[in-house]
Amino acid sequence: MIDSARVLSRRSGVTAAILAAAATGLVLGAAPATAAPAFPVPPLTEVAAAGTEGLDPLLALAYTMAEQEAHARGVPMTINSGYRSPEEQRAMWEEGLRTYGSPEETRRWVLPPEESTHVTGRAVDIAPREGAAWLEANGNRWGLCRTFDNEWWHFELATLPGAACPARVPDAAHR
Ligand SMILES: [Zn+2]
Repeated sequence: MIDSARVLSRRSGVTAAILAAAATGLVLGAAPATAAPAFPVPPLTEVAAAGTEGLDPLLALAYTMAEQEAHARGVPMTINSGYRSPEEQRAMWEEGLRTYGSPEETRRWVLPPEESTHVTGRAVDIAPREGAAWLEANGNRWGLCRTFDNEWWHFELATLPGAACPARVPDAAHR
């Protein structure tokens, strides 16, 4: 937990700590072991949203909660791309180099595996656009924020739950 928090920004680290406490409460319950839980809580692995495999558990939890509320409101929302292996990201990077010609232009749209937050399990790409728009307007309730001006689909844990999202950067090259 400390090691994984260290690679996050300071603000994200705080979010991670709070969500970790919430997740621990969900799993263990607040009542003594001898008392029956007030209501059954299925483990996250049984309720996690599709596409959350391989993600940071805190992001998987936050996204699952957001998606469940979106679906309850009739808003379509799904993960188009979440965790990527270094090999998958390398293939995307090399495809980007062929498409955009230079590393500088490619970095605006796809990062090499050493830098991508998809490889560390800390990013989700959302579809369709209606769902992404809803998440952009409401995701901060779970700490989820759109981070790039040029990618309406890309979200990360980037703020305290309920707090405002940080200002977006123009594109991934501005990290
Ligand atoms: Zn992305």
